[in-house]
Amino acid sequence: MTPEFIATIGFAFFGLCIGSFLNVVIHRVPRGSSVVTPPSRCPHCNYLLRWSDNVPVLSWVFLRGRCRKCRAPISIRYPIVEILTMLMFLLHLWIFGWSALMIVRVAFATALIALFAIDLEHQLLPNAITLPGIAVGLIVSLVLPPGIVDAVLGALLGYGILWAIAAAYYRYSGQEGMGGGDLKMLAMIGAFLGWKQVVVTLVLSSVSGSLIGLLVIAIKRGDRKYALPFGTFLALGALAASLLGERILAWYLGLYEF
Ligand SMILES: [Zn+2]
Repeated sequence: MTPEFIATIGFAFFGLCIGSFLNVVIHRVPRGSSVVTPPSRCPHCNYLLRWSDNVPVLSWVFLRGRCRKCRAPISIRYPIVEILTMLMFLLHLWIFGWSALMIVRVAFATALIALFAIDLEHQLLPNAITLPGIAVGLIVSLVLPPGIVDAVLGALLGYGILWAIAAAYYRYSGQEGMGGGDLKMLAMIGAFLGWKQVVVTLVLSSVSGSLIGLLVIAIKRGDRKYALPFGTFLALGALAASLLGERILAWYLGLYEF
């Protein structure tokens, strides 16, 4: 076993633990409770979870998805979030290699997973995640790509473009089409990825959002009232932009060089 292999296994396990923490974030942040205290309890019988009930994935498998005390079912969402987070860590390592940028983008992806899940469940993008996200994105861009100028422009463009779309939509329909959370989320994405990737993210999220929206309309036979939260698509688009955005841009711009 090479040291690199051992480091990769360790990194994968670290991803599982962060996934476990993400479960707490996804459950507690929209309810305004602390992610540190109190320790987790079974929502049914109030049983205080021991450390051995908190081992990522393994506890869920050994307890066969049930509370140790009252046997109430535990959502399969918990091990799924843990495994997805681990895969996300490995994917970043594969694309960026061991580097400072990889660590930053993994942290960014972790925030995106939290926003994705919270928006899907609560139609909410908490300031507790987006506002520190904007600050961290700008600070790390002082020394890492895309650079501070690009990052500031990205945050401004991200906020401004959705603000303009929301204002136009309000003028046109008299309804609020987008929450302020979406604006702050795209500002955060711009702070991490720069202004060009804000455009890439918007295109990817709008296309995937339209396709899935049409699918939902087709399945629900024309019930257009069912609104899919835009933040979930912003999260998917930003993740693709973070991992592949440079390649997408090069490919797109390449079309015009012939
Ligand atoms: Zn219980």
